[in-house]
Amino acid sequence: MKANIKQIQNINKRYNVFTSIRSNPTPPDNSPFAPLGNLTYAIKDNFTTRDEPTSCSSKMLSSYVSPFDSTVSSLLNQSGSSCIGKTNMDEFAMGNSTISGFFGPTLNPLYPQERDLIESYEEITFATKDSISENDGEIISSDIMNDYTNTSDLSLHSYIKPKLYNDAFDRISNEQRIVGGSSGGSAAAVALDLVDFSIGSDTGGSVRLPACYTNIYGFKPTYGRISRWGLLAYAQSLDTVGIMSKDLDTVWKVFMSLDLSDSKDPSCLSDSTREKIAIERIHSKKNVGKKIKIGIPVEFQIEEMDESIKKYWKSLLNKLKESKLIEVYPVSVPSIKYSLPTYYTLCTAEASSNLSRYDGIRYGYRVLESECNVDIEPEFVTTRNTGFGEEVRRRIILGNYALSSYGFDSHFMKATAVRGMLIDEFNDVFRDRHCLIETKQLKSTNGVDMIIVPTTTTSQPPLVKDFKNTDPVTSYMNDICTIPMSLAGLPTMSIPYCEGAMGFQLVGQHGQDYKVLEFARLVD
Ligand code: GLN
Repeated sequence: MKANIKQIQNINKRYNVFTSIRSNPTPPDNSPFAPLGNLTYAIKDNFTTRDEPTSCSSKMLSSYVSPFDSTVSSLLNQSGSSCIGKTNMDEFAMGNSTISGFFGPTLNPLYPQERDLIESYEEITFATKDSISENDGEIISSDIMNDYTNTSDLSLHSYIKPKLYNDAFDRISNEQRIVGGSSGGSAAAVALDLVDFSIGSDTGGSVRLPACYTNIYGFKPTYGRISRWGLLAYAQSLDTVGIMSKDLDTVWKVFMSLDLSDSKDPSCLSDSTREKIAIERIHSKKNVGKKIKIGIPVEFQIEEMDESIKKYWKSLLNKLKESKLIEVYPVSVPSIKYSLPTYYTLCTAEASSNLSRYDGIRYGYRVLESECNVDIEPEFVTTRNTGFGEEVRRRIILGNYALSSYGFDSHFMKATAVRGMLIDEFNDVFRDRHCLIETKQLKSTNGVDMIIVPTTTTSQPPLVKDFKNTDPVTSYMNDICTIPMSLAGLPTMSIPYCEGAMGFQLVGQHGQDYKVLEFARLVD
């Protein structure tokens, strides 16, 4: 094991990485047949697991336990790796800082934190029914548990729950910087060497941005490549499962263990599409000439980008050119300019629809009738008003507007059309074929193999004290480099570069995930 549970608890006190830590994690499988044997991992708290709550760092689901494991956690457990716990995040994966969720901020390990944020830990034991039943998702309390102890269909679980100091924000030093988000806990767990790898979700950059801010690898595969069964939906046309690690081979191995079709997730690529991808890969390997062609979209010449990032971008390209393996070409993807408003229209629309299920009636947090004035506000309204945080409520309102009769044509449909244009423009730039867009002819060999762009526009993550008071639109600007690839569903790896919070994204054609992984090795 990388670190034992006591060490993890001690380090976690400073950075608040976990929403729950397993009391007795299953030891990693050492057998030679376990592809991920010996490895430990942490998983973002929006993937369902039966062993502890799946909270999405929201009051709404703070003690909700799922009756089933997500496909990702089942596959990882079958592969012999051992889960240490669930990681902190922005509420419902909406954000890029991991400072505003119900369980408090996660801090960036690259910037030492002097004082503890966690006051104490509490061990919670609960039982769930083995078979899915009418009690789905409810923790069975310990007194009921006693009545059940002899029944064979109950399994006992225990986890360690951190308790934050009330004045946690005042304990953060003025120099402390955000870890990025929304998968900030997963990035910090890897950066602090608490686990070998971690799992996050990436809808618009949530794996790549915190990976960049913590100087580790963050891989967002092609949309649909890894099953999202059991990943609580934020914006389902964009949500992907991402992998983080300090070690590229580990990212590769984890991806191979998860890269499977799944009938439970209708957006997961089918076996026949996967075959097409494999054939295109063989074709692509034959087709690559002596040199790999790299594209630099002119739209990424962003005025606000720090000079130091531009300097490192050039130095990375020069280093690659020196290896005599690559040629660099300027390319154009004009709709990149419209990515930010397009993304925020589509993701809020989808989120407002997805989050309507949290009404306090079916599961999760509920304000009792006796606690609210039902004449003024029905129970479910009070529940949603107090169960969701400020950013989530803001996005529900924005999304409802985009889907309303006022905003549907002018916002939602327009954003959908721009997204279509963006997909076509990216497709035209690559020499490989898109695995879902039918082309009768083989593509010409003129396109590029890979795109390289920065992961962020700033060379240092914002200070926590500043970011806390940043207005929402300014904070959305932090996603400017990661969103275009999410809209187009392209495989993208953020690789660490130099020391500190610096990263670059390697972007491949839709379906060419292994090409991205191979290229990352070359850059390494
Ligand atoms: N920061 C973006 C947002 O808030 C992306 C989040 C994500 O990828 N989950 O929507």
